[in-house]
Amino acid sequence: MNICELIRTSFIDYPHNICAVVFTKDCNMNCRYCHNKALTSTNKKIEVAEILKFLEKRKKLLDGITITGGEPTLCKGLYEFCKNIKSLGYKIKLDTNGSNPQLLSRLLKDKLVDYVAMDIKSSPENYNEICGLSFDCIKNSIDIIKRLDNYEFRTTLYPKVTKDDIIEIMKIIKTDSYFIQQYRETEFDDTKPYSDNYVKELCNELKIAYRGIN
Ligand code: SF4
Repeated sequence: MNICELIRTSFIDYPHNICAVVFTKDCNMNCRYCHNKALTSTNKKIEVAEILKFLEKRKKLLDGITITGGEPTLCKGLYEFCKNIKSLGYKIKLDTNGSNPQLLSRLLKDKLVDYVAMDIKSSPENYNEICGLSFDCIKNSIDIIKRLDNYEFRTTLYPKVTKDDIIEIMKIIKTDSYFIQQYRETEFDDTKPYSDNYVKELCNELKIAYRGIN
């Protein structure tokens, strides 16, 4: 496991649960708006044993663990890591870009993950433009994740993602468990976001919940 950061307590990263958040280092996408790019270049490394020791002590205070990144499914030890966390009695939420359907399927089949939050970057025709990989590498993950009771899909409304892209995504995922996240500029990309009002109106029109707007 290539773990580079740990948030000891979070009230916002696992719906209805108090969790710790573990960040893995690498990612196979290159989203223009990524807020976690610094993770990929950090030298910081936290050993799995240290995380498990911390979780052992926090059993009475935390409900679950959110594993995020980077892209956690790139980590060779993810399956074992989840197994160890489960043996401590925690729920696990996995944040993923969906590019490893084989591992996702295995984790779900063996009940090692309770909640999956998957990014859908854009419509299939514009996928590569936003994140550098094609829609083909994530499409199988959509049906796999929908087998879970608890999951969500989410799209960051980067200004190159249009209303038509969102409509296309909705036709593909066919679920109400879908959120739009407002895009915010990063130190690497100062593209101006859509106005908050525009995002709200779009979400109201399409009946989608939104996040990241006051
Ligand atoms: S998939 Fe997530 S972590 Fe990877 S580049 Fe995109 S936003 Fe960043």
